[in-house]
Amino acid sequence: MKGGWCDSHIAAGATTDPYWWDAARPTLLRSNPAPPQADVVAATNGYTTKSLGWFARRVIPFQGYIAATEELPPDLVKKLIPNRRVVIDTNTDIDFCRIAPDSSRVIIGGATASGMSTSEAIANRLHPIMARVLPGLAGRKFTHLWIGFCCGTFDLMPHVGGSRGLWYAMGYSFAGVTMGTYMGDKVAKQVLGSPEGATVFSEAPFHTVPLYTGNPWFMPFVMHYFHWRDARIAARQ
Ligand SMILES: Cc1cc2nc3c(=O)[nH]c(=O)nc-3n(C[C@H](O)[C@H](O)[C@H](O)COP(=O)(O)OP(=O)(O)OC[C@H]3O[C@@H](n4cnc5c(N)ncnc54)[C@H](O)[C@@H]3O)c2cc1C
Repeated sequence: MKGGWCDSHIAAGATTDPYWWDAARPTLLRSNPAPPQADVVAATNGYTTKSLGWFARRVIPFQGYIAATEELPPDLVKKLIPNRRVVIDTNTDIDFCRIAPDSSRVIIGGATASGMSTSEAIANRLHPIMARVLPGLAGRKFTHLWIGFCCGTFDLMPHVGGSRGLWYAMGYSFAGVTMGTYMGDKVAKQVLGSPEGATVFSEAPFHTVPLYTGNPWFMPFVMHYFHWRDARIAARQ
């Protein structure tokens, strides 16, 4: 294993045995009986690089996009989203919005994994989504846009676990804000050896599929399938 993430681990005296993470249940001591000198947690989710090979073969990174509107009249915001709730639709490819916690802007996300790379492309894609979901904002402008990486897994479940010295928590599959907090707590307790670290998300095998090395070339096809599925369900209603 190579890369920045490992450097501190190696500097702390850990073995560089490349086979650690090839075991079905990763075991740091599988081929090196020396006790580890430090605990390292891989919590890299959508930013998992190929240098973290075992993990990169198990997570499928994709882009998420968010836009924030200009400051809006507070009365309009209150009317559009009563009780300041987070709003999310029931599609597989979700659109979601909320009022910013510290201002009267609306923050909206959607068009996940659609391969956009410019501000113009993101604005042009998210603005019609906002106008459809909240028609009262059709004439309003975006002032901020951003991109980040999320990731899914082959069973659409997050995974947490590891063993002495090397641990992980990742693969949040659309729910990292909530599950990331939960899994962070679990992995910390596992590192400390607390029984409270036990969770079903450590029991399920963290699968990869043959030939997958971390290049999510198939995501556009997956998103097309999600769109087709969403349209089919909508047509039935
Ligand atoms: C635009 C967007 C909208 C989203 N909306 C939602 C939402 O509405 N609800 C929801 O639940 N989730 C949402 N998510 C997903 C959510 O943000 C993530 O699931 C969550 O941030 C994962 O948290 P994390 O701490 O595990 O990983 P991250 O926040 O992704 O942090 C991983 C960190 O690892 C670091 N890293 C990578 N490699 C190394 C290395 N070698 N050494 C050291 N550090 C390294 C990276 O720099 C990064 O800081 C959204 C994501 C994006 C991008």
